[in-house]
Amino acid sequence: MNENETALEEMITKVFMEMVDQKDNNPSGCNGLFETIDQAVAQAKAAQKRLVSLSLEKREVIISAIRRVTLEKNEKWAKATVSETGYGRVEDKIQENILAANKTPGTEDLEAWAKTGDNGLTLVEYGPYGVIGAITPTTNATGTLIHNTISMLAGGNTVVYNVHPAAVNISIDVIKTLHQAIVENGGPEGCVAMVTSPTMDTASELMAHKDINLLAATGGPAVVRAVLSSGKKAIGAGAGNPPVLVDETACIRRAAQDIIDGHSINNNIFCISEKEVIAVDEIADNLLKFMAETGKAALLTPDEAQKVTQTVTKGEEVNKKFVGKNVCVILEAAGITRFAGNNELRCAVFEADRNHPLVWIEQLMPILPLVRVKDVWEGIDLAVEVEQGNRHTAMMHSTNVEHLTAMARVIETTIFVKNGPSYNGIGFGGEGHTTFTIAGPTGEGITSARSFCRLRRCVLKDSFRIV
Ligand code: NAD
Repeated sequence: MNENETALEEMITKVFMEMVDQKDNNPSGCNGLFETIDQAVAQAKAAQKRLVSLSLEKREVIISAIRRVTLEKNEKWAKATVSETGYGRVEDKIQENILAANKTPGTEDLEAWAKTGDNGLTLVEYGPYGVIGAITPTTNATGTLIHNTISMLAGGNTVVYNVHPAAVNISIDVIKTLHQAIVENGGPEGCVAMVTSPTMDTASELMAHKDINLLAATGGPAVVRAVLSSGKKAIGAGAGNPPVLVDETACIRRAAQDIIDGHSINNNIFCISEKEVIAVDEIADNLLKFMAETGKAALLTPDEAQKVTQTVTKGEEVNKKFVGKNVCVILEAAGITRFAGNNELRCAVFEADRNHPLVWIEQLMPILPLVRVKDVWEGIDLAVEVEQGNRHTAMMHSTNVEHLTAMARVIETTIFVKNGPSYNGIGFGGEGHTTFTIAGPTGEGITSARSFCRLRRCVLKDSFRIV
């Protein structure tokens, strides 16, 4: 290559890079990022019409690209999420993203149903709502965006997000990346969109927008209440306070390991994670001993437990400063030094009275109270009470079928895990697909593409029955 050719090539590369940069920063929304809800919804509405005109095969190509790009960016996103939100652990966030990318169902979830008879054929199919307005949490910022986007697009919808302001930068990176992957693989611009400065006002605008056909809120009680009062069809995935009950027939060592693993994943910010242990008196001492023997749990004395409680609670609420933090940060803040330097430690456990605040409030941090009960029946009653009708998640360790069945019936949770850590319930080490939008209050449960679809019936009179 001579000098002129090199200069020409450099110039072409420069112009091309400027075009790419311009596209990335385009406020009109070619990259999925918008200044206003109106702009985002308008683009998503136009995109939805184009999306449904594509073949299902093409939709799958787009979904595969979302999975692929998530796995490529995974480590970067995990680090950026922990750094921006201050919640969780990088290695667990990596697992969250892998799970969302690999175990969120695509279009195969939209199984049609047919009925034939003397009068012909009736076909029922899952159809899109149109444009979905989705509100997402800080706690699983990336997992929720990835899962919701795959599910909603698989269903033929497009989506406009109002993300939590505390996770806005990572969300911008995720949306921009997913948008680019969609467009590069033949999808329309604006299938996935967000406002770059989300606030309560933009959330209200989204909820009230005439062109939003369905709302999906993932978060605490306030946002679920807000979408349910919007006057629109809404899917609400709310808070939980999952109890884990251990009876005298359980394999206690395995229960101890599972509880510590389930409770401490991502520093307890998963809504499904074990938030309090209820243990039958006969095995409670052994359970505590085996928890300590995992090497991952600090067993606190009553005095230490009091100091930790004072540090992490503010009256009836948790002190948000400690949400999602590593246990060593919390112990240090409480003035407990005897575990300092133990990098294996993932949580702290202490014996609590049933009225202890951390038994009743969703702590979202790796501090785990254990309440002793006289027998399994008292334990089941207490588990139902502390779950507080969230219909979210509960766990039980037992080998007695009667006990397991009795608890499963009365707890009425969306997820009930027997003899495993909580995350088995979202397909991590357990069977079944995953979700990061567990819709307990509105009943869709472990959401997937079909949860974001409407059922449509088509009837053909007298024909197409083949027998
Ligand atoms: P959060 O409730 O503070 O925020 C969630 C989202 O709702 C954010 O985008 C926030 O800006 C928005 N929001 C809050 N109040 C609102 C209102 N009145 N109107 C409109 N928007 C509003 O929750 P968080 O701290 O981000 O996440 C933690 C909570 O979410 C926990 O309670 C956890 O159990 C729950 N959660 C539930 C699920 C599930 O699938 N059920 C999944 C993840 C998190």
